[in-house]
Amino acid sequence: MDVAAQWAGGILNIDLQAVAKNYRTLCQVIQRPDQTSGPHPICAAAVKADAYGLDASLVAPVLEDAGCRHFFVAHLAEGVALRPSVKNPQSSILVLHGPPPGTARDLHEAGLVPVINSMEQLAEWRALGRVLERRLPAVLQVDSGMARFGMNAGEVAKIAADPALLDGIRTMLVMSHLACADTPEVSSNQAQLEAFRHLSASLPDAPRSLAASSGIFLGPDWHFDLVRPGAALYGVNPTPGKPSPVSPVIRLQARVIQTRAVPRGQAVGYGGGFVARRPSRIALLGIGYGDGFLRSISNQGTAILPSQPDVPLPVIGRVSMDSLAVDITDLEDGRVRAGELIDLIGPYNTLDAAATAAGTIGYEFLTDLGRRYHRTYTRNDPLV
Ligand SMILES: *Cc1c(COP(=O)(O)O)cnc(C)c1O
Repeated sequence: MDVAAQWAGGILNIDLQAVAKNYRTLCQVIQRPDQTSGPHPICAAAVKADAYGLDASLVAPVLEDAGCRHFFVAHLAEGVALRPSVKNPQSSILVLHGPPPGTARDLHEAGLVPVINSMEQLAEWRALGRVLERRLPAVLQVDSGMARFGMNAGEVAKIAADPALLDGIRTMLVMSHLACADTPEVSSNQAQLEAFRHLSASLPDAPRSLAASSGIFLGPDWHFDLVRPGAALYGVNPTPGKPSPVSPVIRLQARVIQTRAVPRGQAVGYGGGFVARRPSRIALLGIGYGDGFLRSISNQGTAILPSQPDVPLPVIGRVSMDSLAVDITDLEDGRVRAGELIDLIGPYNTLDAAATAAGTIGYEFLTDLGRRYHRTYTRNDPLV
């Protein structure tokens, strides 16, 4: 282990090979619905929020090597930052939020493609196409029932009635987004599917896209021509409550700073948020909410000593800015020493479990991963 790693309170390993493997897994899951013909659906990637905190400039090239040619970011600024990392001339970077007012030309000159969400954005993009006397590529987003981004049924009808509204625009893709894809039992998934079919039918004939990570697992009807997973690529289980079809990507380890014995009745940490019910031994670990290790995991969550994976070590008391405490009483005395690394997320305690313990979802845990961890990127086999 290099010196910088020894100096850090926490070590974050990001397995890029596992990202590529998850990409290939998703490519294998997607398919045409029965009895339909046409090309195999393709798999894009959401790399917004710096590839969910994992570093888009490292993740995108790995996905490109795995065959990915469509990269979704949220903001224009993210697209500009990502552009040098995406090298294949066939690849496109698509900006989910579209051009902020007055930036259509910047977006175009940066070599990005906007997702057009509103009539205002449509007007700006059309105007640029007119000035440049070219048809500019764009993704059209329609709102199929989430009431977030995209044009509503009335706006879609207007466009259908007046094709001049798309002058200067080459529709590269028509897309929409699902509100409840992670809860397959709710009826809104089917309702959004039908609304999307209906709305997209009155727009120019272009490839269509509806599903992100969880939507892929609703079945082939939701796959259309292109799927746009993010979270599943990064190891978040897209099928909550069922075994994960994807491999873990991150491993987060914290260094033991010191251990101590505490008597029964001793309060531990800020606010006395934990009181020992038995004579206990605790280990203080060098990561905290200042690393994005969510404070809501206080008195929840489980750490694991990798050499003793069968013994869960509960997080006790409140998470501090730079440290947290775990109960090591169930391990043999002397087993845990200063300097040792303990898993907070790893092969035995998953990202999803840590997120659940913190009262949130893997997405938020990933995008909160702090800048203070010593980061290592590996292309070796995923952690098993
Ligand atoms: C974030 C996002 C995605 C990716 O979603 P995951 O659930 O992470 O797979 C796809 N499409 C849109 C419009 C998004 O905002």
